[in-house]
Amino acid sequence: TSDIRPLVAGNWKMNGTRSSLDQIRAIAHGVSGPLSRKLDALICPPATLLYVATTLTVDTRLMIGAQDCHQKARTGAHTGDISAEMIRDCFATHVIVGHSERRQEYGESNHRVLLKARAAYDQGLTAIICIGETREERAEGRTMEVLHRQLRGSLPDDATAANTIIAYEPVWAIGTGQTPRADEVAKVHARIRADLVARFGEGGETIRLLYGGSVNPGNAKELLGIPHVNGALIGGASLKAADFLSIYHAYE
Ligand code: PEP
Repeated sequence: TSDIRPLVAGNWKMNGTRSSLDQIRAIAHGVSGPLSRKLDALICPPATLLYVATTLTVDTRLMIGAQDCHQKARTGAHTGDISAEMIRDCFATHVIVGHSERRQEYGESNHRVLLKARAAYDQGLTAIICIGETREERAEGRTMEVLHRQLRGSLPDDATAANTIIAYEPVWAIGTGQTPRADEVAKVHARIRADLVARFGEGGETIRLLYGGSVNPGNAKELLGIPHVNGALIGGASLKAADFLSIYHAYE
């Protein structure tokens, strides 16, 4: 429903060094004006910048999140991994789980994504759970079936609007400059909403549904105006403050 508070979120992926902190500063400044009364903003920088990013954005309206976490919530012998507890310890509030790049490059299953979401809940973080069909699945007409299976398999039973955000990201739209037509996004988001309501009842009505995949300043207004699109998850166009803020201001 339209009374869901929108969220404009950026996923920096494996981009960003200390010199990029200027962009975080500029974004934090840009999202702390009057529009922040009706709209939230989040940036998920690489883990190396997480703590300094939250430190820089204290007393601003920009929230900071991580891009992934291990399925074990706190500590363990998992070289190179980051736990939800570590993310919380950096004062971050959100964590992306199940991004298609993780699913593809690391073979992350729906079940592993579910466990990661649970680890996030365990530490009081909001999980941004990503789902989306590949180009091949779309060509085979299996989009809805794939999304239904991903939703069922990746969402814990105790998902709520407070601890969970869903990002619908067609894999073929990520980083390609291609997006589904507005009517296709509308249809998919309506189906995801119906799926959530069927499983979670009233609670499913308020879980935020983001669209992700080649959102840019030129197409933001159309994509963000689609029913049941409660915001965006932005990759490439979130790296530069001017682009991110231009998308954010599409809500004006
Ligand atoms: C993403 O990977 O989450 C994404 C949406 O990327 P892009 O905006 O670059 O397509």
